[in-house]
Amino acid sequence: GMPAAPARPLGTRRHSRQINVGNVPVGGDAPVSVQSMCTTLTSDVNATLQQIAQLTASGCQIVRVAVPSQDDADALAAIARKSPIPVIADIHFQPKYVFAAIDAGCAAVRVNPGNIKAFDDKVGEIARAAKGAGIPIRIGVNAGSLDKRLLAKYGKATPEALTESALWECSLFEEHDFRDIKISVKHHDPVVMIQAYRLLAQSCDYPLHLGVTEAGPAFQGTVKSSVAFGALLAEGIGDTIRVSLSAPPVEEVKVGTAILESLGLRQRKLEIVSCPSCGRAQVDVYTLANQVSAGLEGMEVPLRVAVMGCVVNGPGEAREADLGVASGNGKGQIFVKGEVVKTVPEAQIVETLIEEAMRLAEEMTAD
Ligand code: SF4
Repeated sequence: GMPAAPARPLGTRRHSRQINVGNVPVGGDAPVSVQSMCTTLTSDVNATLQQIAQLTASGCQIVRVAVPSQDDADALAAIARKSPIPVIADIHFQPKYVFAAIDAGCAAVRVNPGNIKAFDDKVGEIARAAKGAGIPIRIGVNAGSLDKRLLAKYGKATPEALTESALWECSLFEEHDFRDIKISVKHHDPVVMIQAYRLLAQSCDYPLHLGVTEAGPAFQGTVKSSVAFGALLAEGIGDTIRVSLSAPPVEEVKVGTAILESLGLRQRKLEIVSCPSCGRAQVDVYTLANQVSAGLEGMEVPLRVAVMGCVVNGPGEAREADLGVASGNGKGQIFVKGEVVKTVPEAQIVETLIEEAMRLAEEMTAD
C-alpha cells in the first residue's frame, strides 16, 4: 500500500494539480512517490515482470519500461496486465508506439517531444487517445535531446531552455484541452536541474517528476540526486522522483526511498543512528553498526537504533532512540525506550540488540 506521508516539516508544498498514474496519485497532497525503470528488454515479458516484482518488493511505486521497437510495444499489454504497480511506457521517436501503449493498458505514457519529430502534428490524436483511456502523459524533456529550435535559441540546455521546451509541449496539449500531464526537465548537472525545476514550478501547476539524468555510477549518482532532490523537496517542489544510477534499478528505489525518509516525507522504517567513531571509541563501531544493520534488514516498523562507540554521546543518543547501545570497557549498556535494561559483554551486543529489536517490532505490530 501507499506509505503514509508524515506531516511536512519543511517548506510549504507547491500547489500542483493531481493526476493518477494507475492507482498512484501524483501531485496535490499525495505523498511523493518513488519510481524506477526496468533495464530488461521490454519484449522479454518474463524478465521484465520479474524485475518489476523485485522493484515492487523494494518499495517502487511506479515503473517505466522502454519501448524502442514493435516487439516491445507488443509486450506492453501482458506487462501492464500482470504488473503489481502501474507501468509507464517510455516512448522516444515513434508516435505509433504511444497509441500502442495506450491500447495496451499502460497507466501512463512518457513522451520526449525533442525526440518525436512528427510530434506536433500528432498531439491532438495523442490527447484524444489518452483522454479516452483516462491516462496521463509525462512530458519528459532531457538536456541531451533538447528540441533543436530551443538549442538554437539558447545555445545549450539552460534551465530556461528546458523549461520553455516543456511548457511549449504542454501548450500543444492544452490546445486540445488536455491537462492530465506531469513534467520532467532532466539535466546531469544538479545546479542546472534545480534551477530548471524552480522555473517550472513557478510557471505552471502540473505535478513534477524529479530526476537528475545520467547521474552516474552509484556513489556519484546517489550524491547528485540526493542533493538536487533534497534542495527542491525542501522547497516543496517535486511530486514523484526517479533516481537514475548506472546500477541495478532496485538500488535506485532504495536511494529514492532513503531521500524521502531523510526529509521526513516518508515514514522511516529502520534507522540506525551510529557514531563515526573516533579515538575515544571503546568498541569497533563500524562492525557493530553494519552487523546490526544487516541483522535488522527488512524491518517493517519505524525503529531507531543507536549504536554508539563510547560514553561521551552514547547514553544520550541511546536514550533518545527506541533502542540503543552505549559501549565502554568491553561492555555495552543496552537501552530500550530510554531505560538501561541490561549490560552485556561486547560479544553479545549485536545479538542482544537484534533480539530486543524483534521484540519491540512485535509489540509495535501488535498495537
Ligand atoms: Fe567518538 Fe564516542 Fe562520539 Fe563515537 S560516541 S564518535 S566514540 S566520542
